Amino acid sequence: MKVTGNVKVATLLAAALFIAGILLGSVFVQADYKIPETIKVGLSHGSTANNNFTIKSTNGITVNVLENGVYKSILTFMDANGIKVRKDAYYNIIEGVTTEINYIKAVAYKGEVIGPYHIQVGEPFATFEEAKQLASIIESTSPSVFLAYDAGWRVWTQLYVDDSACTQQIEVLKNEHPDYTYYVVYPDKRRVQLLDPISGKVLFVLNAEQPVKVDVIPKEGSASIIEYGVSKYRGSILFVRLAEGDINVINELQLEEYLYGVVPREMPASWHIEALKAQAVASRCYAIRNVGRHSAQGFDMCNGQHCQVYLGYSGEHANTSKAINETKGKVIVHNNSIISAYFSSTSGGYTENSENYWSAVLPYIRGVDDSYEKSPYSNWEKLFNKDEVKAKLAARNVDIGEIVNIIPRQVSEFGRVIKLEIVGTKDKKIYEKENIRVLFGYNDLKSTWFTVKTDADVYVRGAANSSPQVQTASELNVISASGISKLSSSTNTVAVKSSSSVKSYNIVPNAYTFNGKGYGHGLGMSQYGAKGMAEAGFNYIQILEHYFSDTKVQ
Ligand SMILES: [Zn+2]
Repeated sequence: MKVTGNVKVATLLAAALFIAGILLGSVFVQADYKIPETIKVGLSHGSTANNNFTIKSTNGITVNVLENGVYKSILTFMDANGIKVRKDAYYNIIEGVTTEINYIKAVAYKGEVIGPYHIQVGEPFATFEEAKQLASIIESTSPSVFLAYDAGWRVWTQLYVDDSACTQQIEVLKNEHPDYTYYVVYPDKRRVQLLDPISGKVLFVLNAEQPVKVDVIPKEGSASIIEYGVSKYRGSILFVRLAEGDINVINELQLEEYLYGVVPREMPASWHIEALKAQAVASRCYAIRNVGRHSAQGFDMCNGQHCQVYLGYSGEHANTSKAINETKGKVIVHNNSIISAYFSSTSGGYTENSENYWSAVLPYIRGVDDSYEKSPYSNWEKLFNKDEVKAKLAARNVDIGEIVNIIPRQVSEFGRVIKLEIVGTKDKKIYEKENIRVLFGYNDLKSTWFTVKTDADVYVRGAANSSPQVQTASELNVISASGISKLSSSTNTVAVKSSSSVKSYNIVPNAYTFNGKGYGHGLGMSQYGAKGMAEAGFNYIQILEHYFSDTKVQ
């Protein structure tokens, strides 16, 4: 009855809004984007998948399994200690410490070894209560009894390492409880155990091939916060055990709540509210554009640098949450589509065209003036000696001999290097755009906006009154008895004799000094620039529409 009532209210509201739209003469634009309501964030997966963790909430939790595409609540834990989850696998327990092992029968293990072989008592039941009733009968003689959920409720007992242990115990059980049929339960790499986190007793075993969902029991006046390990999250925690792997753990929550845990990691929460709002909208667009990036692993985005760093409820800050709430649902749109709202720390004075750092030409990522930017990374200097450069090339299996020169060959209209030539005694190599930073390291080479000076640069004056041009000595032509030639790059220095002394100069540089501007790719929004604009009185819409060409915030 209650559900019907809600549907009616929603329908009436929608109708009222539609009529209001007509009366006000507004146009309903068909947008070709959809803003997802919820998002799934991978917390532990792949190499960080977990074999052992706790999930709890002060409100209590429910455990839900997928049946015919719909989640069904199967268990409730009111205790604030929650549950411990681990793989149904082999463990070695020594002095109370449990370690997962690759069990080998021939090994004489210290301590106790438990395994994923179990015994099923009787047939599956349709209800938890029926299974519980049989479990309490068996428990009277065999204390290690637990329920399993896999196509119905089952009564299982024991954590054995092989089937012979099961068949022996089945004989014992047959004597004690002769009315039931007993089956050996063989290991299955999709199963997980739910344990009492205090006693360590196995309470339930579930098939987690489909994600198992743990929800907080809603309580009026208290936020639904769920704890996974040492971190707190909004929404639900899902876990899934993929064959051969550990357990993947996923946080499913509202998109806006996800942003609460993302934006404080992207921009300091102490910055101006309009800069925080610009960041909130950029992060929202980024999230929407990246939904499904990890769909093969069963979630939308990971919680690391690869997608956007997300720390959940534990990472939230009131200032950034305010910025998210005040821009709720706002996105940046170009040509009726939500843009990929790229941002970086510091542009250095001008942002850049997308194709000058990556390859795609994005019409909304164009170089723009960034004169409000004030950043500790506005100017930087980094020195590499020739052997360091050689080592960086060697790390990528590139050998061009000894390094004799580094020359920017193509520079964008905004100042960023598009092509950098590295000249060696054996060969030369061109690095382009982002690959220049890949080679030198993203932190060592803070941006591609740089010039290169060497310790072999000489100033050459052509005509008597022209200004001197900087050149590397090895590029100069010299006149000798045999004619015009280049200085040999096999000699390291050239001696110049004047009336008073002989001075030697490097021909081949030993050191290269990169003088650069900005930090990051310089595409889209500059975060320090947004801060500067906000402090100068611009609002977040003006900030975003400045950095993202030909866009509207709506
Ligand atoms: Zn990712």
